[in-house]
Amino acid sequence: MATALSRLALLQPRTLDEALRVLRDEGPLVPLAGCTDVYVGLHFGSALGPRFLDLQGLRKLRGIRVRGDVIVIGALTTYADLVASPLVRRRLPILAEASRWVGSPQIQNRGTLGGNVANASPAGDTLPVLAVAQATVLLRSVDGARRVPFDAFYTGYRQTVMRPDELIVAIEVPPVEGRQWFRKVGTRAAQAISKVVMAAVRAPAPRVALGSVAPTVVRVPLTEALLARAAPIEEAQQALVAEIQPIDDLRSTAAYRRRVAANLLARFWAETA
Ligand SMILES: Cc1cc2nc3c(=O)[nH]c(=O)nc-3n(C[C@H](O)[C@H](O)[C@H](O)COP(=O)(O)OP(=O)(O)OC[C@H]3O[C@@H](n4cnc5c(N)ncnc54)[C@H](O)[C@@H]3O)c2cc1C
Repeated sequence: MATALSRLALLQPRTLDEALRVLRDEGPLVPLAGCTDVYVGLHFGSALGPRFLDLQGLRKLRGIRVRGDVIVIGALTTYADLVASPLVRRRLPILAEASRWVGSPQIQNRGTLGGNVANASPAGDTLPVLAVAQATVLLRSVDGARRVPFDAFYTGYRQTVMRPDELIVAIEVPPVEGRQWFRKVGTRAAQAISKVVMAAVRAPAPRVALGSVAPTVVRVPLTEALLARAAPIEEAQQALVAEIQPIDDLRSTAAYRRRVAANLLARFWAETA
């Protein structure tokens, strides 16, 4: 009997090399990690399918390790893994914090960091964290590896520099100096997509990134420059609302998002003083 699933194909490689070969030779294929975003697409008929590459067999892509002074987070590492990691909680507490606010325990158990990054939603909660942490996205294809600075990974709304024959294999995070700060504003505590999400680091040159206020996650360089030279916070707030481009949508209004973003900036500055 034909069902809605009959037209879908699932390839299940056992190793990364096999996955990359299949991706090059048998594409186009949609990689599947925790499937929490893909499933929603399937449900609403907007999935990129119908042929999928299941990454769950690639065990080496899951886990957190240290290389030199860099934290290397495998693409298949889940939010629950990040919350449970003493290393992440010590070195990048805002990533554990962001993960704790994602969806619900069910989503945190399945959803992966690589999936959040690859999905390229401007509302992805880990993206502002990775932006202020100056992370690097490690991509692999049959041709080899390449490292893309997080700031250069997104090219537009849901667009990235990743090629169809590439996979994200890890996110690399260098040491982060300065106090870290994260806040997500949604309709409620769980299962809420961000209306505004901000991550920031209070270093001598402060870094601030926001989600849900532009087509991609954004850093705000003019605001950062004002903070760096200790301009009055009101001046930095004015710069911030001019630097972001929020929209009215079903979750919020542009005016509300601007107001909240400005308030969050003042909170960050006061709480990390
Ligand atoms: C009920 C619910 C609540 C949610 N709440 C939140 C929330 O609060 N905050 C938030 O940020 N997100 C939320 N999400 C979205 C989702 O859970 C996250 O984006 C999650 O991190 C996606 O990871 P995944 O492993 O499930 O990705 P998948 O669904 O498997 O894949 C997502 C996309 O990334 C691609 N992809 C996945 N892994 C790789 C890889 N290694 N290399 C290349 N491409 C890859 C896939 O092809 C697909 O296009 C929610 C989703 C649901 C259903």
